[in-house]
Amino acid sequence: MDFALNDEQQLFVENFRELMERENWEPYFAECDKTHTYPERWVKALCELGFDQIMLPEEHGGLDLGLVTLMSVYEELGRLGGPTYILYQLPCFDTILREGTQEQINKIMAYVGTGKQIWNSACTEPGAGSDVGSLQTTYTRKNGKIYLNGHKTFITSSAKVPFLVVMARDSENYDTFTEFFLDMSLPGIKIEPLEKLGLRMDSCSDVYLDNVELDESDIFGTEGNGFRRGIGDFDLERFLVGASDYSSALCAFEDAAKYANVRVQFGKTIGRFQLNQLKFAEMAIKLKAMKYMLYEAAWSFDQGEMTSAQAAMCKYYGANASAAVVDAAMQVMAGVAVAGDHRIQRIWRDLRVDRVSGGTDEMMILTLAKGVLREYAA
Ligand SMILES: Cc1cc2nc3c(=O)[nH]c(=O)nc-3n(C[C@H](O)[C@H](O)[C@H](O)COP(=O)(O)OP(=O)(O)OC[C@H]3O[C@@H](n4cnc5c(N)ncnc54)[C@H](O)[C@@H]3O)c2cc1C
Repeated sequence: MDFALNDEQQLFVENFRELMERENWEPYFAECDKTHTYPERWVKALCELGFDQIMLPEEHGGLDLGLVTLMSVYEELGRLGGPTYILYQLPCFDTILREGTQEQINKIMAYVGTGKQIWNSACTEPGAGSDVGSLQTTYTRKNGKIYLNGHKTFITSSAKVPFLVVMARDSENYDTFTEFFLDMSLPGIKIEPLEKLGLRMDSCSDVYLDNVELDESDIFGTEGNGFRRGIGDFDLERFLVGASDYSSALCAFEDAAKYANVRVQFGKTIGRFQLNQLKFAEMAIKLKAMKYMLYEAAWSFDQGEMTSAQAAMCKYYGANASAAVVDAAMQVMAGVAVAGDHRIQRIWRDLRVDRVSGGTDEMMILTLAKGVLREYAA
């Protein structure tokens, strides 16, 4: 197993470091967070450096550099304060290329390089959270058309994306789950934005579907394949949550370490107090464990071997270990961290959300444990 980047990959990552160091992005991120605004200027600048092409196959004009490279870019961006959680759609074009019709692919690919939000998928409903299979949104065929009816909730980015992939069940055969590629400008779609604790640069909304009229060509993937399609895609998404959380924790750790080396109390820098040193030792261990877990999973992904258990481990451990690191970093920075406008507050809020969105801690534990036990099945 070798995670080392070659010279070309190192230069590629270096470009992103330079972008982050070229200007002080923090006031812009703080403003976007405060006003719940998608940081399009930053994402566009990343795309100009090829961020959205990292995982895109060469035949679609991409760079096909793999997940280890993407991981390194995430690590740099997050370490320097970038809200990497906002980028989750951009490494996931594979889903569209694999499942989409040519027309759907063309619509999505038209956004490559723009930095705009493009699409997301909507499964969750008020009565169907972890138990996605209990969803009640239906599709019904009538006079050569298909009609979607239902209520999705907690749908990330849905206030801004032009397209949403929506999971529904056949009203005449309740065991058939199918996804639809929805143009968000269609009549019958109503969005109601929700407030949330963190990840505020991205929207999160209720989506109401009232007799939304579709054609057969709007089916996404194969009819009845709704659940089978998602599994591998969820794994990548979960990995990305872990990568994002780790990179944010690294940022908080570095802020706290720099602070501890200069803040003087009782005649000494606070980093010399053993109670603070314990925090730095524990933070460093967690960061190292996350780093190698994530790089190992990324390497497995690039070999076509990342398992659902690995992805669940990255999300579960990443979200929890990062939260512990950021909390400890906050304690070291004390008043500066909890009052005023330090970025660590934003990171702390963001991380808490990740223990729920994209699948809860508890669901990650179940997936992880199942995978681990399967390895030892007789
Ligand atoms: C900010 C945010 C963004 C989101 N974005 C999207 C999105 O873009 N698209 C989308 O489809 N969904 C999205 N979701 C929904 C998210 O996936 C669900 O919130 C999540 O799956 C949990 O569902 P729930 O909140 O209804 O909790 P519930 O499923 O009601 O669970 C409540 C508690 O019970 C636990 N629990 C439930 N079942 C079990 C069990 N069998 N064993 C042990 N414990 C259990 C849960 O872990 C949790 O702690 C988002 C959610 C949030 C908060």
